[in-house]
Amino acid sequence: MKQMRIFLTLATLLLLSGHLIAQTRASLTLVKAGRLLDPRTGNALAPAAVLIEGDKIKQVGAHVNAPNATKIIDLGGATLLPGLIDSHTHLFLNIVIPPEEERKRHLNPLFAPADLLAIVESPTKRAFLGAQNAREDLESGITTVRNLGHSGIDGDTELRDAINAGRVPGPRMLAAGRKLITRGDYLQNLNPALADAILNQEFLFIDGADRARAAVRQNVFQNVDVIKVTADVNLTVPELAAAVEEAHRNHLKIAVHAAEKAAIQTAIDAGADSIEHGNEATDEQLRQMRDKGIFLDLTPTFYGGFLLKIMEPSIVVSAETRSSRTESGARRDKQYDELVQRVLKSGVKFAAGTDMCWWYPGKTCGQASVTTLLNLHSAGVPTLDVIRAITVNAAEMLGWQDRIGAIEPGKFADLVCVAGHAIADITELERVRFVMKDGQVVKNDLSAH
Ligand SMILES: [Zn+2]
Repeated sequence: MKQMRIFLTLATLLLLSGHLIAQTRASLTLVKAGRLLDPRTGNALAPAAVLIEGDKIKQVGAHVNAPNATKIIDLGGATLLPGLIDSHTHLFLNIVIPPEEERKRHLNPLFAPADLLAIVESPTKRAFLGAQNAREDLESGITTVRNLGHSGIDGDTELRDAINAGRVPGPRMLAAGRKLITRGDYLQNLNPALADAILNQEFLFIDGADRARAAVRQNVFQNVDVIKVTADVNLTVPELAAAVEEAHRNHLKIAVHAAEKAAIQTAIDAGADSIEHGNEATDEQLRQMRDKGIFLDLTPTFYGGFLLKIMEPSIVVSAETRSSRTESGARRDKQYDELVQRVLKSGVKFAAGTDMCWWYPGKTCGQASVTTLLNLHSAGVPTLDVIRAITVNAAEMLGWQDRIGAIEPGKFADLVCVAGHAIADITELERVRFVMKDGQVVKNDLSAH
């Protein structure tokens, strides 16, 4: 008994000293800038000072008194914003669009060969690609990503853990693990005798409500942060509702890919947390989403002739393809402009993601991603709403509103800084000059540090 008491006292002392060491180690940093934009209100604090202790924000104000040992980072007249959030990305894909002749020879011409290639490639090779894309995203100011599938069996959960352990640089990650799909749209031209073995590297199949629950549980075992389901005509409401119930039972949100009207309805009726893409949402569906609190995650990936932009530098594009793509692109852009107006009017909560999975010649993954997010502005979303969609709104959609999305005490010190004023010129976000994640400087082109 006495020995036990001595042991407990020793243990308490050790714990206390550990606590003291941890406290003295948490370094203080004061970041000063010309102004700080609060996306929630649209107000700017000028001048601005943010005191950071360890990885968290401790104090925000026009002037903050910091203790002597505080490290000062003075960013001059620049504008601070919360770190950016890409709510829908695919870090483990890097699709190179094949030449026209090759595409014509495949059943599912644009996507399938590239997707198949990614699945059958060495998982190790893919892991390095994911690490590169993660670093490039972070360098462009994207301090959080939600990776929604296409990373092999455990690519994104492992990359998340490697980033958190400090092995590779990258954004805060929410990993979805394998995407839940029906045996419908993907890779129909596979050899049927081999199809399952190949597809299981990338997907979990839903075939009935029990299989849907089991698929969620498999991902839970893999320690995912979110469940991703693709809704198509083959997916039923009871199947998706079972997946939603199982995800919620495990305190996970469920993001449902749904672009067409019928799939969007399935996602609404089954109680999805977010609808990804939602391109064909009707006004009635937007109203239902608003009433049920379902987020719309807009992905303006193809806006503004994206495909031609990534095709032309690397492959020969025939005049015929160029003109038909230009025409269909203009039509799609107009539909997107209309969708954006209806979304704004409906009052549905929205965030934005890139759906980045392409090789974009001349741009890093991060540069291509920020450019894609800003397509929302070209489509008619006001500047402040674009910034909200990729900060505070995205944080809420992810369920991380207590950690990220705003610069305030208690949140992670994830900050970006632009030289000009992001509200006056949103393209400043493409030229982020300073990036901090977890209180650590990732990039600083504004001051000696
Ligand atoms: Zn996607």
